[in-house]
Amino acid sequence: MKIIDLLKSDHVGISCELFPPKKESGLPNALEIVREIAAGGSDFISVTYGAGGSLAGQALALAVEVQRCGKPAMSHLTCINSDEAKIEAELAQFKAAGIENVMALRGDRVPGGVENPQFLHASDLVKKIKASGDFCVGGACYPQGHPEAASLDEDIEHTKIKLDAGCDFLVTQMVFDNDILYNYMFRLMAHGIHVPVIPGIMPVINAAQITRICELSGMPLPPSYRAVVEKYADNPLALQQAGVAYATGQVVDLIANGFKNIHIYTMNKPEIVGAICNNLSALLQ
Ligand code: FAD
Repeated sequence: MKIIDLLKSDHVGISCELFPPKKESGLPNALEIVREIAAGGSDFISVTYGAGGSLAGQALALAVEVQRCGKPAMSHLTCINSDEAKIEAELAQFKAAGIENVMALRGDRVPGGVENPQFLHASDLVKKIKASGDFCVGGACYPQGHPEAASLDEDIEHTKIKLDAGCDFLVTQMVFDNDILYNYMFRLMAHGIHVPVIPGIMPVINAAQITRICELSGMPLPPSYRAVVEKYADNPLALQQAGVAYATGQVVDLIANGFKNIHIYTMNKPEIVGAICNNLSALLQ
């Protein structure tokens, strides 16, 4: 099933993001996580692409398992350090596995990384994917602006190039403050952008991890959430409960304000997704 068809329906639901294991030996455990998350009611499951494609084999194995569980998989693909032949080979594998949805990403710049002038932006990859088959293509967007962009408006103009290249929908970077997303949605509309936007929500369950993620993305936690994370930094169970409660509150607010699909950055923790879904059982339909 193509994700854009799901997004155009009245269905309200959640989807999940997983990452592949770093080593092949981690695959059995990761496949079990896929099965648990699929059984928990996720509408579709996306699988990230490791830097430079180093984890492509494991990522494909997870996506195949997602489909085997009867859920649409969305395979991520990055382009900046790749080349046309490698991208074509990946897309051929997706096609052979029946994967219809691809998340087209530029990928992060790495010091010393060889950048391919043919694939400097995600829009270049979107074009390539659309020319290579009947894929539904998602793209990333940044309600607080991508760190390399001079301004939010410039970033939105660049996002528009990605959409003009054929990108069907957008998934946001993790959002901790819904008001920032609502503001962004108005700006998208002002730029003539009306494609479905899926908010990305990350339940905080590890204080050190979220501090690192916020530093890397340049996106601070709202003060009220930071206070909770600091208070329970050394109490994992309390932090997990607080993280699930905060994320649940965000999802309720997003649904009340008209969003129909919410993407959960699961950090490969099925129990967290399960707890959020339990809290929302009457809202997801
Ligand atoms: P782009 O859309 O190309 O944008 C990158 C920068 O270039 C922005 O500043 C933009 O304003 C600018 N830009 C875009 N187009 C143009 C243009 N035509 N001219 C000039 N400037 C332009 N990384 C991974 O390695 N693997 C993953 O699986 C992965 N999954 C992700 C999923 C989501 C939902 C998100 C939000 C990010 C993900 N990332 C992943 C990280 C992503 O690769 C980085 O954020 C990267 O820095 C930008 O990728 P992009 O696709 O948004 O790039």
